Amino acid sequence: MPNNPRLVFFGPPGAGKGTQAERLTETYGVPHISSGDILRDGSRSGTELGNEIASYIDNGRLVPDELICRIIFEEIAKPACQRGFVLDGFPRSVEQAEALDEILAGRGFRLQGAIELELSEAEITDRLTARRWCEDCGAVFNLKFDPPEMRGCKRGRPISECDIVQRADDTAGTVQTRLKVYRETAGPIIDYYARDGRLYPIVTNGQSPEEVFRQLQNTLGEMGVVPVQ
Ligand SMILES: [Zn+2]
Repeated sequence: MPNNPRLVFFGPPGAGKGTQAERLTETYGVPHISSGDILRDGSRSGTELGNEIASYIDNGRLVPDELICRIIFEEIAKPACQRGFVLDGFPRSVEQAEALDEILAGRGFRLQGAIELELSEAEITDRLTARRWCEDCGAVFNLKFDPPEMRGCKRGRPISECDIVQRADDTAGTVQTRLKVYRETAGPIIDYYARDGRLYPIVTNGQSPEEVFRQLQNTLGEMGVVPVQ
């Protein structure tokens, strides 16, 4: 019997976490649960929980740990996650990682591992400062390896009519800060998974998205996880 993928995903900004998580979920037929997306969508849903989330986001406050845990645990209890999931943006603390292990154990499951995409600081800066996005449709491009003119806007119109800009977040100075924040938050959680041999680092320096994905597939193969037919 092949194993079901139950994974958490880590990686510094610019390492291609979103892209790889997306490909992984397509190939292995499991949902990609991004805490950022859930909070964004949830805050617009108009449900009781949604309004609770919105009350924090709209006031520029951090959504508390307890609420994030509740949302994520509700999500992974859904039938769609029965055969596994890929979590992205959660856990954000060792406490949350422990809580996740406990919840899963209570259902007879185990989190197989944490995938960490590794990327050198020089390449992070290089990649992020070349990043551009369309203000209108939200498509993200990279001047170096994924230029806008190669695939165009999500709305299917010529790229010349799009508003392609650089986000304030993607300038060299802010990249340093984001990297520091990433190391401080993710570091202890990554150590937590490393301690019992559940950390799977993937080196992404100088690698194309395809090469990174091949490494990922090999790693999942070692865990006994196989792609859906
Ligand atoms: Zn666009």
